[in-house]
Amino acid sequence: MSYLVTLIPGDGIGPEVTDAARLVLEATGVRFDWDVQDAGAAVLEREGTTLPERVLESIRRSRVALKGPITTPIGTGFRSVNVALRQELDLFAAVRPSRSLPGVTTPHPAVDLVVIRENTEDLYAGIEFERDAPETAGMRETLRRLSGFEVPADAGLTVKPISVYGTRRIVRFAFEHARADGRTRVTLGHKAGIMRFSDGLFLDVAREEATAHPDIGFEDVQIDTLSMRLAREPERFDVLLLPNLYGDILSDLCAGLVGGLGLAAGANLGWEYAVFEPVHGSAPDIAGTGRANPLATISSGAMLLRHLGERSAADAVEAAVRSVLADGRVPTPDLGGRASTTDMAEAVASALFLEGPVDSS
Ligand code: NAD
Repeated sequence: MSYLVTLIPGDGIGPEVTDAARLVLEATGVRFDWDVQDAGAAVLEREGTTLPERVLESIRRSRVALKGPITTPIGTGFRSVNVALRQELDLFAAVRPSRSLPGVTTPHPAVDLVVIRENTEDLYAGIEFERDAPETAGMRETLRRLSGFEVPADAGLTVKPISVYGTRRIVRFAFEHARADGRTRVTLGHKAGIMRFSDGLFLDVAREEATAHPDIGFEDVQIDTLSMRLAREPERFDVLLLPNLYGDILSDLCAGLVGGLGLAAGANLGWEYAVFEPVHGSAPDIAGTGRANPLATISSGAMLLRHLGERSAADAVEAAVRSVLADGRVPTPDLGGRASTTDMAEAVASALFLEGPVDSS
């Protein structure tokens, strides 16, 4: 039996790191039927869009995808493919683990936390009004009438919707994920004192939901205080539950705590579909040089294997990643070495066998 999986190589270092992940996933012995779908800058000229419908159709068929990073051109009016994918497929939960790893020296050697980020609402919902556009004048007028608030005539606007429905499902997801992952405490980050009706709602709904999960601890911390505490004592945190924007920012921060973006894996999950991708972007500064660290994408692949029910293969990939890092023979430049993307992928694939055979039955 083989698994149908959509593979989106992406832009910049995307094709290099997804090739590396594919090599390792195939080395586990689990069989894949890859449906390769280009998206992003690479197809814009050819197809007039960065996210062709065929990509969404492929994921609706396969229900699961491995995705490389995709460039979002700044200021061109193109909607981010990443945001669009999450919204079109209702991938409402981003799951981004940050764990200290052997052989990767950091100031905090005992970090083991997971960021659960709401993925569809908040300032990333895409409700925007451009400076000087006629609709923006209409919004200014409406806001003046409804609240007496005078928005400056030269302002652009981005709206921050946070709903009860959207919050309730991510909060439940966070508690259920905590329980399934053997975790004991959820910490919610917010700025409810300032944004009372968006962050305030997120906090109120979460507090209410938390009472239904007495076996898991719950606390809330203002997002600025949380950032400071993460820098000082990250090992004290277990599950971080965050609205979209804070989740985006703090997941990079947490990646930095355990060795950088080259190591940070992620999943975007909904009721029906799952898209696995590294936290990092397309890294145009190193694209095509063979210097990208593939471990974030390989580890995202391990999460994909677990999602497919291939637990022993997932465990084997994670053990192989740890042993390659502990061994320290093939660090890529971001980890202070000179190894290439392919060197590292091959080392992980070889370590799979040293770690013992994978039972993919
Ligand atoms: P980035 O994550 O691409 O790069 C930030 C820094 O980290 C760069 O110095 C880069 O070289 C380094 N880096 C990233 N991944 C690495 C890896 N695997 N190995 C070694 N070094 C690595 O962030 P950016 O430069 O802000 O964004 C570049 C583009 O990627 C933008 O267009 C952005 O919108 C897009 N982006 C896409 C996604 C996604 O597809 N999910 C996520 C973030 C950013």
